[in-house]
Amino acid sequence: MIRTPTNTGWIEVIAGCMFSGKTEELIRRVRRAQYGRQPVVVFKPRIDDRYSLDSVGSHSGTKLLCVQIDRAAEIRELAGAAQVVGIDEAQFLEDELVEVCEDLANAGKRVIVAGLDLDYKGNPFGPMPMLLCRAEYIQKALAVCVICGNPADRSQRLVASKDTVLVGEADSYEARCRLHWDPEGAEGQQQRLPFGPNLAERLSK
Ligand code: ADP
Ligand code: MG
Repeated sequence: MIRTPTNTGWIEVIAGCMFSGKTEELIRRVRRAQYGRQPVVVFKPRIDDRYSLDSVGSHSGTKLLCVQIDRAAEIRELAGAAQVVGIDEAQFLEDELVEVCEDLANAGKRVIVAGLDLDYKGNPFGPMPMLLCRAEYIQKALAVCVICGNPADRSQRLVASKDTVLVGEADSYEARCRLHWDPEGAEGQQQRLPFGPNLAERLSK
């Protein structure tokens, strides 16, 4: 049982690939704080409009009201008297989010941040690496690989687009494990095969 601090704030980060349950876990933690009658506010970047304009939503359908922001600095102004501050899809915010979270934690708030740790190419995403270093508590959430059922930590893009940011869900991405994830495999129907063309080639050598 982790003993949480008193008389101070702290940062918690929930990181992982798509479908790993980051938003579900954020919602669970925020709901528990609400049961404890703690003032809570949740933010998400406006870029993520998959589910609703004013709620954070998980792939399983659970939702929570939230404030949409365009810039990380807005969180400083809008956090107000909230004791618990949640932030979803943090990978889409600027690096300034790290200092914003530090300031909120230093001001005595519990800051819960959820976001993709890796982009579809497998590179660290936005401010997430720095946040993971600065946080007191971190959780790596894992999904289930849709090909083999192993724990999955990577997001397989299923559509041919080279943009780092391509907001989508089950039609555009799948959770894959290390073995079945292929960063070059998002071409036509081939990406739906167990082994993308490049990966099949690598394994046959
Ligand atoms: P995240 O915020 O990490 O993208 P969500 O919290 O929105 O994840 O969604 C998690 C839910 O997604 C799971 O509870 C499950 O219902 C669903 N899901 C769909 N595909 C998968 C998968 N491959 N592995 C695990 N959960 C999945
Ligand atoms: Mg999510």
